[in-house]
Amino acid sequence: MNTGHNERVVAGTWSGTFTPPASIPEHADIVVIGGGIVGVSAAWFLAKQGINVVLCEKGHIAGEQSGRNWGWVRQQGRDPRELPMMIESMRIFRELESEIGENVGFVQGGCLLAARNERRLQKFHDWVKLSAEFDLDTRVIDGKELHSLVPGATPGWAGAMYTAGDGRAEPHKVTPAIARAAVRDGARILTSCAVRGIESQAGRVSAVITEHGPIRTSVVLCAAGAWTSMFCRSMGISVPQLKVRGTVARTSATQKILEGNLFDDRLGIRLREDGGYTVAHGSVLDHGLTPSTFRYAFKFLPALMQEIKVLRLRFGKDFFDELAMPNRWPLDDVSPFEQTRVLNPEPSKRILRGIQKNMVAVFPALADVEIVEAWAGIVETSPDVVPIIGEVGNVAGFHIATGFSGHGFGIGPGAGKALAAMLTGNENSIDLTPFRLSRFFDGSPIRPMSAI
Ligand SMILES: Cc1cc2nc3c(=O)[nH]c(=O)nc-3n(C[C@H](O)[C@H](O)[C@H](O)COP(=O)(O)OP(=O)(O)OC[C@H]3O[C@@H](n4cnc5c(N)ncnc54)[C@H](O)[C@@H]3O)c2cc1C
Repeated sequence: MNTGHNERVVAGTWSGTFTPPASIPEHADIVVIGGGIVGVSAAWFLAKQGINVVLCEKGHIAGEQSGRNWGWVRQQGRDPRELPMMIESMRIFRELESEIGENVGFVQGGCLLAARNERRLQKFHDWVKLSAEFDLDTRVIDGKELHSLVPGATPGWAGAMYTAGDGRAEPHKVTPAIARAAVRDGARILTSCAVRGIESQAGRVSAVITEHGPIRTSVVLCAAGAWTSMFCRSMGISVPQLKVRGTVARTSATQKILEGNLFDDRLGIRLREDGGYTVAHGSVLDHGLTPSTFRYAFKFLPALMQEIKVLRLRFGKDFFDELAMPNRWPLDDVSPFEQTRVLNPEPSKRILRGIQKNMVAVFPALADVEIVEAWAGIVETSPDVVPIIGEVGNVAGFHIATGFSGHGFGIGPGAGKALAAMLTGNENSIDLTPFRLSRFFDGSPIRPMSAI
């Protein structure tokens, strides 16, 4: 088993070395920070409108979460606040390959959220009621129908939430392909180009300062994933965000035991384009305690209480690493972003053993299948497990899009489209007010409402 980092799971552009851009533009209408699916999709939709947009990525495109995730593109089980954006994202995914002329492995193979008891099944019924106005093809099925959909699985489920129209795509393909489309439409994408900070004049953004020099602009979108909170802290803006490590494995190609994606409290599994499966543990939230855990503990209390049974807390290196991180840094010297070009955590060996055990417990036919690769990614979560989107702080023109909380891959293209409308002042068919940062500070109840 290869438990190390492997090029194939991350973006195709990864070469192991970081070549700085030959030149950087002096000016842009909009600068996007972060080359994950959110930043890249926003840049694509901006470029399509003819906006002069520059995207700066400290490492390589999709090097972090966007290239390391499970590849689920799912509407089911989401917080209803996310559904309009997610439904739009699904529409974009359906048309993506024909629009950009590249295969990204998108298949509507269905999503099954399986329940082992009636209590969990009732939660699914509740969610279907909660989301009724969105007219999704989600329904709750009984154990018999579930087992007829996955006949190779060990019996024992009470039923499932089933959405036939949900699907999957290959994370190592999607974001680089959208980035190439953005470039064709006129965006400039600069990799190995960390943004160290922002400069302002008269209360408005005037430039981003990259490691290779300034780019003058009046509008910035910070879509820096797990780095957003730290970036904002350096500007005096508090963005409550905690990090969770996800360990993932990939099997070799094998017999087909599943058409789409399946999740229960033991495993999350989906069929891959190469005939193998992407597999993860179904019930471990692996959180390394950090000063941020204590800084934001109160705001995260409802989410922590909800997940208490699956939370695995570690105290050690993560704590001291974050403690050693400066709150501010000079913009004319190497910043923390250049020091870690790609967040590449070690997968947990213990969780990998659990994944293998659970995979065989649920699908005995996979007993001899080999795990050929394993990796980990750092998920950034918000207190109510819903994204944080909008203009923030006292410097006009500075926006963030973060906190996609472990399900931003599926919603990423939809978020990108909504962000492009927000940044250009165009009419937005999606109401972004539920995602405002201020909801964590204005006394609004902090209530996670997803069914997963
Ligand atoms: C193990 C795992 C499984 C997941 N499974 C799923 C799934 O099945 N379905 C789903 O919908 N979602 C899933 N997710 C979540 C999903 O991957 C993320 O929500 C989504 O990719 C977030 O995209 P992003 O663009 O916001 O962030 P990222 O992909 O993390 O991108 C942020 C980028 O910003 C760059 N950056 C940061 N700071 C700077 C700076 N100062 N200057 C320049 N660049 C900077 C980083 O290098 C990074 O590339 C999973 C995540 C993980 C880790």
